[in-house]
Amino acid sequence: MLQGDMMDRPLLLSSLIEFAALYHGEREIVSRTAEGTIHRYNYAAAGRRVKQLANALRRLNVEEGERIGTLAWNTYRHFEIYFAVSGMGSVCHTINPRLFTDQIAYIGNHAEDRIIFVDLPFVALAEQLAPQLPLVRAFVVMTDRAHMPETSLPGALCYEDLLTAESEVLEWPTFDENTAAALCYTSGTTGDPKGVLYSHRSTMLHSFASCMGDVLGIRARDSILVVVPMFHVNAWGIPYCAAMTGAKLVFPGAALDGASVHELMESEAVTLSAGVPTVWLLLLQYLRDTGNSLPHLERVVCGGSAAPRAMIQEFEEVHDVRLLHAWGMTEMNPVGVVNTPKPVLEALEGDAKLDLMAKQGRAIFGVDLKIVDDSGQELARDGKAFGALKVRGPWVARRYFQRDDDPAFDSDGWFSTGDVCTIDPDGFIQIVDRTKDVIKSGGEWISSIELENIAVGHPAVAEACVIGVPHPKWDERPLLVVVPSKGATPSKEDVMSVFAGKVAKWWLPDDVVFTDELPHTATGKLLKTELRQRYKDYKLPSA
Ligand code: ADP
Repeated sequence: MLQGDMMDRPLLLSSLIEFAALYHGEREIVSRTAEGTIHRYNYAAAGRRVKQLANALRRLNVEEGERIGTLAWNTYRHFEIYFAVSGMGSVCHTINPRLFTDQIAYIGNHAEDRIIFVDLPFVALAEQLAPQLPLVRAFVVMTDRAHMPETSLPGALCYEDLLTAESEVLEWPTFDENTAAALCYTSGTTGDPKGVLYSHRSTMLHSFASCMGDVLGIRARDSILVVVPMFHVNAWGIPYCAAMTGAKLVFPGAALDGASVHELMESEAVTLSAGVPTVWLLLLQYLRDTGNSLPHLERVVCGGSAAPRAMIQEFEEVHDVRLLHAWGMTEMNPVGVVNTPKPVLEALEGDAKLDLMAKQGRAIFGVDLKIVDDSGQELARDGKAFGALKVRGPWVARRYFQRDDDPAFDSDGWFSTGDVCTIDPDGFIQIVDRTKDVIKSGGEWISSIELENIAVGHPAVAEACVIGVPHPKWDERPLLVVVPSKGATPSKEDVMSVFAGKVAKWWLPDDVVFTDELPHTATGKLLKTELRQRYKDYKLPSA
């Protein structure tokens, strides 16, 4: 092959903070801090402090490739750690502090974290974890001398003391763009959490793509409130996108309630924000209760789980804010698809428009998508056929960190997402279930999520879960497990009446059982594995 004659400059994350400091030096980064104040500075100052921190890491003998953990909310210091650690050629490992303590200890040891940066609210958690993390050389408390707590943390260092001692001068090292930059673990609903090791190249290409007009459309004029935690797949890559474009950054710290989020949106003239549906439900509730509005906000990105239709409608019709539904995964850096309008669909109105906006989003350049049936045969992109979703692309993982042969990675170069969806002729996907939750009845698939969504429409149903239980003739049939609303005692027939006219007859649950409580994971998702175990010998009346 004839090689091109262009420069081979590696795509390195240090170039992002360099660019932001040089060309958008005056642009602000605003944080609600753990110390209780609002902190303001700009990209120029951040650039200098990132270099001080990188020099401090060098002094602490941090080596290339070593994993450096964080237990922290979204603040400017966390932002500095992102760039200093990756820029030096080490790996920034953001740990989700909401996981169970044993899971965190497992993750810290599996990642072999050598230093852990700890935000003030997580010092007690780190103290509890420390004895289980023998590889950690030092804990750095992310505060200044005045707020440094009494702590039993071995080798506790003060973040601001570390920086003050260092020079603002540093020449960033140059290395291969495929070098590891950051590490995130999946939440591990089944088995141990799995690590995904991002490279400088994957994160950089993901950032270019995310900034595109038809993806998140991030520009210098945006003021972005980063609600999605920086320990949640690198805040969906937004800190990198902001540096790439010079957008203003607003970090909310630990305060994610409606009032606090709204206050920052107003005071910082926020135009774009991103987070999971729960946060937006809280914000909308607050706005309804107080009569407040959102005059600056233009778009909210919503993903992690499905955005309810009513929420999309309320943002659009009451607040004139466009909700961009998005789907992604830790294994994808994380953006997979985003719901932005196509010209042919812009004329849609009313229900048809909402139906489209409720889909998870459409294909973006860089992520190949396909759906397949049980035998691996590709299914039609007709918006009706649903199958297991597979993806591939330059920001999709090819393996899990220090863990070989996971069946999710096919020998033919695709990754099985574990999601089941339709793809329509315009490239929009709609998630209908998870592969392990979909009910396989007589060779056909039934969406458990669709049945659950209908069931919770019954006023006497507080929460519903549909699982497949073994059936001698059909292989599996749906069983509906219901937590009744407070004070309600509905009959099975009463609950079943909610499905009338809404689904095909063969989709109807074969039976209903009532329970006081459903099992959930640490991140609030239904633990269907446990329910399947509980009802594995359940005898359906049809069996
Ligand atoms: P996250 O931490 O963002 O939830 P995970 O990797 O833990 O990322 O989980 C990814 C899974 O979350 C996806 O495989 C999918 O099942 C679910 N998910 C993400 N976004 C959506 C969405 N918009 N609608 C429905 N499910 C979603």
